[in-house]
Amino acid sequence: MKLNELKAGQSARVLSIGGEGALRQHFLDMGLIPGVEVTMIKLAPMGDPMELRLRGYELTLRLNDAEKIGIELLEAAHVKAQDQEGRRPADHPGLGEEGRFHPKGTGDPLPEGTVLSFALVGNQNSGKTTLFNQLTGSNQHVGNFPGVTVDRKDGVIRGHADTSITDLPGIYSMSPYSNEELVSRDFVINRKPKAIINIVDATNVERNLYLTMQLLEMNVPMVVALNMMDELTGNGGTVDINRMESMLGVPVVPISAAKNEGVDELVRHAVHIAKYQERPLRQDFCGAQDHGGAVHRALHAVSHLIEDHAERVGLPVRFAASKLLEGDRHIEAQLQLEQNEKELLEHIALQMESERGLDRSAAIADMRFEFIEKVCESCIIKPRESREHKRSEKLDRVLTGKYTAIPVFIGIIGLVFFLTFFLIGPFLQNLLAEGIGHLGSLAARAMEAGHVNPAIQSLVLDGIFEGVGSVVSFLPLIVTLFFFLSLLEDSGYIARVAFVTDKLLRRSGLSGRSIVPMLIGFGCTVPAVMATRTLPSDRDRHMTILLTPFMSCTAKLPIYSFFVSVFFPKRAWLIITGLYLLGIVMGILAARLYKKTLFKGEAVPFVMELPNYRMPSARNVLQLLWEKARDFLQRAFSVILIATIVVWFLKSFDFRFNLVANSYNSILAELAGLLVPLFTPVGLGDWRIVTSLICGFMAKESVVSVMELLFSGGVQNAITSLMAASLLVFSLLYTPCVAAIASIKRELGGKWALYVVLWQCAVAWVAALAVRLIGSLL
Ligand code: GDP
Ligand code: MG
Repeated sequence: MKLNELKAGQSARVLSIGGEGALRQHFLDMGLIPGVEVTMIKLAPMGDPMELRLRGYELTLRLNDAEKIGIELLEAAHVKAQDQEGRRPADHPGLGEEGRFHPKGTGDPLPEGTVLSFALVGNQNSGKTTLFNQLTGSNQHVGNFPGVTVDRKDGVIRGHADTSITDLPGIYSMSPYSNEELVSRDFVINRKPKAIINIVDATNVERNLYLTMQLLEMNVPMVVALNMMDELTGNGGTVDINRMESMLGVPVVPISAAKNEGVDELVRHAVHIAKYQERPLRQDFCGAQDHGGAVHRALHAVSHLIEDHAERVGLPVRFAASKLLEGDRHIEAQLQLEQNEKELLEHIALQMESERGLDRSAAIADMRFEFIEKVCESCIIKPRESREHKRSEKLDRVLTGKYTAIPVFIGIIGLVFFLTFFLIGPFLQNLLAEGIGHLGSLAARAMEAGHVNPAIQSLVLDGIFEGVGSVVSFLPLIVTLFFFLSLLEDSGYIARVAFVTDKLLRRSGLSGRSIVPMLIGFGCTVPAVMATRTLPSDRDRHMTILLTPFMSCTAKLPIYSFFVSVFFPKRAWLIITGLYLLGIVMGILAARLYKKTLFKGEAVPFVMELPNYRMPSARNVLQLLWEKARDFLQRAFSVILIATIVVWFLKSFDFRFNLVANSYNSILAELAGLLVPLFTPVGLGDWRIVTSLICGFMAKESVVSVMELLFSGGVQNAITSLMAASLLVFSLLYTPCVAAIASIKRELGGKWALYVVLWQCAVAWVAALAVRLIGSLL
């Protein structure tokens, strides 16, 4: 029987894992290995993907991935009995036991003044961001990992000026299959942090420790922060910390990041192990007795075989050995093994596979989980089903329910958009605009009084205050939108949205996770592009970013309403809705095209954890808003400022660099004149239209205002309704504004940004031509 045939409520034991490469490794890393028990919870409302429960957490996967997993059905009674097992009362001394079972060394400390650098590593949703914020306060800055667009945060631990801590991407394993995993792995190997702080979710130790075990193999000083202790103890669970320390060989500190409990002790431990470079006492977790010791013998044999190579290239031996046995090609290449050694390695692996009866990656994963099960059995008293989980189940009955999921989703998104773009956003925007206006008139008066050169006056007022001001006025929208989104994200709802919409997006080669940036795109492309940071695969990120310009942003709404009210007042709503739909349809067509050309490869498997719903922490949300705002302002004052100055210059001067009274004579008009022939075929060959479209590149709203200015208010007499229709379609599709392009450049680099400009213009041109041809036939 295959996993996809499992009915809701049924349980089964996994027999075999098919598939290959990234997908298969991902299954294994998430704890889906032969022998594990899974319970099917439900299908998404559209019938795909499915939600499973295993190892105490919820996982989603697509049906045709599930098809690769062989299972055997379990009797319901048997499953129940298992759940009851292992629940026995025990005393627990509570938070803060000062690592009694991990003797602190006092050997050779690192020299005074060495910066103690820490890497913060953990699963997604384990509380990394919360802990990071607690540790650093406001001493942090956000950056990118060079070469890859994965967010990176650095900070200094409060009260320890000689430290630096880097928040690595949330990962489940150190496999080389996703960008995040590679980034984290390279960071630990190449940047050589002085110590690792591994954050482990105490309510889900079983899956979290899988990463811990791979981190231990890196042989870097490490401390385990056992987070969410409040939730565990609140539901009657306990952890025997001292025993866990002695089994893992590193200090384990129980904390609650959200409540700031145990964090001071964590810092003391972390600083100590970094300073004295106390490495894990243990890296060898394979048992000589487990399943005849096949994996144990193979691992040790490979360790000895490659010891010299690993030392030469600076890789931890145990880590290299287990990765080699798993079949990791990166590591194999890095080690520069000789042909003989490669063959020997292959023989060892084959022997292990035949003795263990599992293929190599499953055998290694199984070895790790075997040890983890021992740790859990002897150190953890599982809580009764937690309140948080029960609450999540109840919420999910509605939020991912068969008939309710989609209406609720539409309702929530509608509400967020209404609040952001119609209620709170505009209110704040007006406040800000007034502020900028006041500042502008102050500046104007000051310059007037100081008899400043009129050209400079015009630059400051028209260029900087108008240009940058108009972009900065987006700030309230962006901050409000991100406020709501981070509420949804932190609470765990976004993961459900991805679950619900996956099937729909999949047809266009994307996964459910792309839905959020696309939706934001209807508000504004800038935050939409920023929101793609949450996507796990590079391919999906690229594709999603390239598709967001097709979603009509709110800045295009003034263009639509202006032309529709002048030329098609009777069918206003029909046409505006039609334009939005046209954008979506073009986006879908483009996605299909991309799927067949630029982004052929496999969509990343949609194997995702559905975390329990949690109350978002105010601190995390505020911190995120501050980061986004700062990010946006930095950009507004760099790229956008320069672009604004250039356009101002072009529209204020003629070719002899005299200030022009009427922009009719400006360089911009002359240049626009050059472009007119390009626009003639689509029926827009008028320099005033071209100029306003160019100005629209600065900010879409300005298309209307510039056109009003240049046509002196007589647009309706100057252009026909067919031209208006072409213009509408062209405005819908042509290049996004400078602010959006700047953020695309930031995410994907200059080449892609240029590509978006040219591609969108080309698409818009063809579509406008089609409108003209069809229109002239009617
Ligand atoms: P990340 O994905 O690892 O960065 O995790 P976050 O820091 O975003 O935390 C995920 C969720 O867990 C958030 O809703 C936090 O408020 C919550 N959380 C973090 N630490 C704790 C904790 O110690 N106790 C409880 N109950 N919740 C926590
Ligand atoms: Mg986070």
